[in-house]
Amino acid sequence: MAEPVVKYKNVTKSFGEVDVLKGINLDIAPAEKIALIGPSGSGKTTIIRLLMTLEEPTSGIIEVNSQNLWQMEKKGKMVRANEKHLRQIRGDIGMVFQHFNLFPHMTILENCMTGPIHVKGQSKEEARKNAIEMLEKVGLGDKVDNFPNQLSGGQKQRVAMARALVMRPKVMLFDEVTSALDPELVGEVLEVIREIAKEGEMAMILVTHEMDFARDVADRIIFLEDGVISEQGTPEEVLGNTKSERLQKFLSRFR
Ligand code: ADP
Repeated sequence: MAEPVVKYKNVTKSFGEVDVLKGINLDIAPAEKIALIGPSGSGKTTIIRLLMTLEEPTSGIIEVNSQNLWQMEKKGKMVRANEKHLRQIRGDIGMVFQHFNLFPHMTILENCMTGPIHVKGQSKEEARKNAIEMLEKVGLGDKVDNFPNQLSGGQKQRVAMARALVMRPKVMLFDEVTSALDPELVGEVLEVIREIAKEGEMAMILVTHEMDFARDVADRIIFLEDGVISEQGTPEEVLGNTKSERLQKFLSRFR
């Protein structure tokens, strides 16, 4: 297997007395698509927030491209990673949230230009060209001058995707991106993710309750339960006829 793009080694996370992650070991191959499923509160969001460096692990190591997120070597000694180091690694990771998190005072186009200009140092012209191309790809070429509040939830979520994609991340994280949407808008958002997944270059971690979608898109499905990975495998292995009673019980809710 190629060198993993992401590695979790014995990662734990506690909030005060509550042990949310209890030893996660996970290697993600370049371009691998992973669906993370599990009951509410099992730690799915925490796993991806750790990768986005929105949280710090309590113990263990998280690497992106073989670089430790939280520690770095300095004169042969490991020290805590500084903001500059984190920013650099974070550039390889894109995230789409449940609640869009668009900048309300910027147009759709500006939303998609600001990262490439301020983080990647692209010129305005280059950023504009790439942003328009990406917005066309997610089907919003005619909305570039609109503001977020002029769009439907599904359109906002597609902007959020374009905004993450223009950064050309190596890993894309999707945290229940359809769960805040009206049911009739879910399809258009999943369709865009399917398209992106088909292009194949990026690794993806998708936290989702859409089991048919997970079956379609994922190379591997991981069932998280109570802060540990309790089952994993291909969609057939996990969603097919699993032997695990707890997984069966969980899946029965979606049938
Ligand atoms: P999931 O995404 O599977 O629903 P989460 O990762 O969001 O699970 O949360 C797992 C557990 O961690 C929950 O019990 C939640 O209340 C707790 N938790 C998450 N973030 C925090 C936080 N910042 N402070 C305290 N508890 C938290």
